[in-house]
Amino acid sequence: MERTFAMIKPDGVRRGLTPEILTRIQRKGYRVVGLKQMMISHETAESHYAEHKDRPFFGELVSFITGGPVVAMALEGENAILGWRGMMGATNPANAAPGTVRADLATTTGENVTHGSDSSDSAERELKLFFSEDELL
Ligand code: ATP
Ligand code: MG
Repeated sequence: MERTFAMIKPDGVRRGLTPEILTRIQRKGYRVVGLKQMMISHETAESHYAEHKDRPFFGELVSFITGGPVVAMALEGENAILGWRGMMGATNPANAAPGTVRADLATTTGENVTHGSDSSDSAERELKLFFSEDELL
């Protein structure tokens, strides 16, 4: 069974979208094996988004993601990595397919409500970054 890291970003938490997003995840059939609301430290944010460190939006991205509580989740299910990416939709909500989280709940690329690991390597790395072994049930 595959595990992935998912997150409700600060805009989603601030807008009260946590229940809606958790409902979608559970209706899909993924098991929520880790769940916590938390603040992300500057250090964790820079490590999480290290692949984007040379992009012009990096500073903005780090201050956004550290600017309010997020909900960090570990999801388990068949093809959970690609499945959750599919449920989120394209990075830019304008390009996201109807029915996806970003199409239905977001309007801007910078504040696009959720995150999902994009490969098994990043899932493993991100799950380790956000959860200790004993937090995953
Ligand atoms: P995430 O990694 O958050 O799940 P993603 O994999 O769809 O999103 P990435 O290319 O990894 O997209 O970009 C990470 C995040 O950086 C995006 O979700 C978005 O919030 C922000 N971002 C990406 N491109 C831009 C951009 N051109 N302008 C502003 N912010 C951007
Ligand atoms: Mg990404």
